[in-house]
Amino acid sequence: MSTTKIENYHSWLRDAHAMEKQAESMLSKMAGRLEHYPDLKARIEQHIEETKGQLELLQGVLDRNGVDNSTLKDTMGKMAAFGQAMGGMTADDEVVKGAISGYVFEQFEIANYTSLIAAAELAGDTEGARVFEQIRQQEVQMAEWCLTHLPSVTEQFLVRDAASGVEAKK
Ligand code: MG
Ligand code: FE
Repeated sequence: MSTTKIENYHSWLRDAHAMEKQAESMLSKMAGRLEHYPDLKARIEQHIEETKGQLELLQGVLDRNGVDNSTLKDTMGKMAAFGQAMGGMTADDEVVKGAISGYVFEQFEIANYTSLIAAAELAGDTEGARVFEQIRQQEVQMAEWCLTHLPSVTEQFLVRDAASGVEAKK
């Protein structure tokens, strides 16, 4: 059995939608838990809004390509491992682990959109490729922010954790 370029492209569109649903869920959990790291929380909340926009853009590409959305892979839990790493974290150093996982997830998204852009072009969906370039840029900016602010998040955590009577983890 062979699979056409279009069929693979459509399958990957669904994967991308599932990835963004997972991102929205993980980021919301993280932002909801953070109390003592206002800069990180604010940047995550900004990216939640961006992610909601990405989901709308993806839905537009799915609709325009006539991809049936009723069996979206969102519920299949393909990203469960990432979800646990990022959203369900209750470790004593969860803010640091969360910031690291956040960065890794953004790189995961960047790689996915890089592949999807190539697939869109090969499937003849130039408009889709343009949309994914736009989304990828938001992921690149979020990844850069996460990495740039990782030393500061780490330092803030270490200072709080060394103080008595101060919660550090979130
Ligand atoms: Mg995204
Ligand atoms: Fe993202």
